[in-house]
Amino acid sequence: MITRFAPSPTGPLHLGHAYSALLAHDMARACGGTFLLRIEDIDSTRSRPEWEQQIYDDLQWLGITWDAEPIRQSDRLPSYKSALKELWHRQLLYPCTCNRKDILAALDAPQEGVEPDYGPDGLIYPGTCRDKTNRNTAYPDGSVIRLDMAKAIAAIGQDQLHFLETGEPVDHKAQFITTPASDITSTIGDIILSRKDFPGSYHLSVVLDDAAQGITDVIRGADLFEATQIHVALQALLDLPTPRYHHHHLIRDDNGKRLAKRDDARAISKYRAEGATPEDIRRMVGL
Ligand code: GLU
Repeated sequence: MITRFAPSPTGPLHLGHAYSALLAHDMARACGGTFLLRIEDIDSTRSRPEWEQQIYDDLQWLGITWDAEPIRQSDRLPSYKSALKELWHRQLLYPCTCNRKDILAALDAPQEGVEPDYGPDGLIYPGTCRDKTNRNTAYPDGSVIRLDMAKAIAAIGQDQLHFLETGEPVDHKAQFITTPASDITSTIGDIILSRKDFPGSYHLSVVLDDAAQGITDVIRGADLFEATQIHVALQALLDLPTPRYHHHHLIRDDNGKRLAKRDDARAISKYRAEGATPEDIRRMVGL
């Protein structure tokens, strides 16, 4: 078993991160497996070295140890680029010049009271740029690149996509979650796989990194459950193994709102400064 914790160094770790990291760590340790760390720093405008250092400090303080040098997404650009080029040569990608306003206009929104369709990756792209570019050319570096989902699903050639999910507790019996492949086109659509300033996107890099690190079990928050369908589709497309998934409940504040990076009030560093112990944190998250 190889599990991982994959935080973004864009703010302090809070109780929700502690829960995820402790679950993944404990799960690997319980069966003599491996626990790895990955720093998801593709958002260069928000990632900061001091947050990365704080991640290491907080995890060590919690008693979490990792079994290899952490990997950083900013060091993995060649892998992302090569996957993008492969998909480009298979004619499954296209460059897109739309901004959010263009997308809303094409969706004929916003109309009073009519909400456009959102998928796990945000607004479902109406396809404006899909057929604008000849795909038989060199890879268009420096462009926003989208996946032509209908073509991708056809290339995968399966009627259904599925993955193993245990939910909670994480050692619960796994069950298959199955999605008809055709649903992915309508409920997720043409997602962005590469940004202008960075050759990659969260979905592409997470899938490539989990495979590169040999992750067998992904433990993460239930907020990413819908995104897992995207990851399973990308794994099928890129011929990568699909790990088991364990989506856990989200830790919420007193008002029932899920914790966000800006919830400094629930930052582990703040509890530390106030004299809490790692055992207190475990108890607070219900472990
Ligand atoms: N980097 C993501 C986050 O901090 C987690 C990614 C994942 O578990 O796949 O929310």
